[in-house]
Amino acid sequence: MASTLLAEIADNKLQACLFIEVHCRAHGDHRAAIENEPTSHQFPCPVCGAESAYSVLGAGGTIKPLPLIENPQNVYGWKAANARVLTLQVGTLRHV
Ligand SMILES: [Zn+2]
Repeated sequence: MASTLLAEIADNKLQACLFIEVHCRAHGDHRAAIENEPTSHQFPCPVCGAESAYSVLGAGGTIKPLPLIENPQNVYGWKAANARVLTLQVGTLRHV
């Protein structure tokens, strides 16, 4: 971790963390902030707990308690939300 990053983390009273993305075969990708890199090459899926591969996204800091797991209900983001809206609109059009 670069010393300037550590200084910024300390100056802003943050807790140093590592951002990772967990790749579950059943539930897709989930982002997490953890204190230390796992000793194994896997991290548990926040939905099902299955040991899954992960990628390190980068180092940073957070004010939130660790580990911080992205809300599984929001993991699909805008793309899935737009798909749901489109499905709803198509369904509405069919019923009009
Ligand atoms: Zn899973």
